[in-house]
Amino acid sequence: MFENENVYNQHIAIELPYNIELYIKREDLLHEEVSGNKFRKLKYNIAKAKELGYNKLLTFGGAYSNHIAATAAAGRICGIDTIGIIRGEELATKYKDNHTLSKAVNDGMELGFLSRSDYRLKNEEEVINRLHTQYGDFYLVPEGGTNMEAIRGTEEILKPTDCDFDYVCTAVGTGGTIAGIINSSQAHQTVLGFPALKGEFLYNDIKLYTDRTNWDLIIDYHFGGYAKYTDELITFIKGFQEETGVLLDPIYTGKMMFGVIQKIKEGYFKEGSKILAIHTGGLQGWSSKIKN
Ligand SMILES: *Cc1c(COP(=O)(O)O)cnc(C)c1O
Repeated sequence: MFENENVYNQHIAIELPYNIELYIKREDLLHEEVSGNKFRKLKYNIAKAKELGYNKLLTFGGAYSNHIAATAAAGRICGIDTIGIIRGEELATKYKDNHTLSKAVNDGMELGFLSRSDYRLKNEEEVINRLHTQYGDFYLVPEGGTNMEAIRGTEEILKPTDCDFDYVCTAVGTGGTIAGIINSSQAHQTVLGFPALKGEFLYNDIKLYTDRTNWDLIIDYHFGGYAKYTDELITFIKGFQEETGVLLDPIYTGKMMFGVIQKIKEGYFKEGSKILAIHTGGLQGWSSKIKN
């Protein structure tokens, strides 16, 4: 699985107050099929699975999960079998109507379905043992893909040449992406995370993977919770694409960019600051989530 060299920092040429300069790192261009941060998080996990001699990788996700889509495509490309354990038994008979899941099956992923109550216990030994009985030996990647190997990968998002930015902003789901970005940030930079879900717990999750303190979360832009959105958000995303040519996704990067621009207008950032927002990808989310 090779990343291409297409990623660059694109200047966002829209009118902004307080002499703010805004750029977006086009991680969405990292790979044709395995976009953005999910590529970063899988790269060293797949390498480790192969190193340890596994030929099967099992992971978890919801019906619209970018992580499920990315794992299925990466497995096909890298020649490793994939099993996706999906939240919600009712999907077992309906997955063909869901773009993310039917594409995953086309990429060779075997799907299994857990009831919502079992899914909540997916990190318990008993549930894992049951999965081993059913699927045999496998390399386990947690839901959302965040573990130590994933952080190694997300530490490669920010480059030494990004050192002249004052702020780095990213969407947050499990916190693995922001943790890697924090670890490779410079001390003079502030890393700001915009959670896509309601989650105070995220502070502690992020601290599991970083000792640094030059970061914070801005928790007001979840738009009702994970995978929820409003007309205002969709209108913003469409307007942003018209003005800049950059398509954001409705689950993560749209919410983050909405928050960044609102905070700029409120005067949250120091006058004359240079801000780098990360386009973590996730554009496959459109095909399942929003019909228009
Ligand atoms: C999964 C995802 C995130 C969140 O990443 P975490 O490492 O779980 O915080 C952000 N943006 C996009 C596009 C994603 O698919």
